[in-house]
Amino acid sequence: MPVPKRKLSRSRRDMRSANKGIDPQPANLCFEGSCNGTPKLPHQVCSVCGFYGGKKVLVTKTDRALKRSEVRAEAASRVKHAHPESESPDKEA
Ligand SMILES: [Zn+2]
Repeated sequence: MPVPKRKLSRSRRDMRSANKGIDPQPANLCFEGSCNGTPKLPHQVCSVCGFYGGKKVLVTKTDRALKRSEVRAEAASRVKHAHPESESPDKEA
C-alpha cells in the first residue's frame, strides 16, 4: 500500500481544503439575440438564443418550435383557402 513520504503540513492541508468549497459561477451573461442577461459559459455559444460574437450560429430548440408552429399555421390557412365554403356556410346569407 502506498504511503506518503512526509507529513503534509497544516498549511498545505488547509490550502487543499480551501478549494473544496468553491462551486463554479457563471462568469458571462448573454445580451445577444432574444437574451437579456442569460448566464452562459465564456467563449461558448449561448444555448438559449444560439448567438456567438453577434452572429446566429446555432439552431436552438425554441427556433425549431417556432418554425414548426409557422408551418402548421401555413398548412391550416392553405386548407381554409382550398375549402372556403366548408369553413363558413352561412356567411353569404
Ligand atoms: Zn443568448
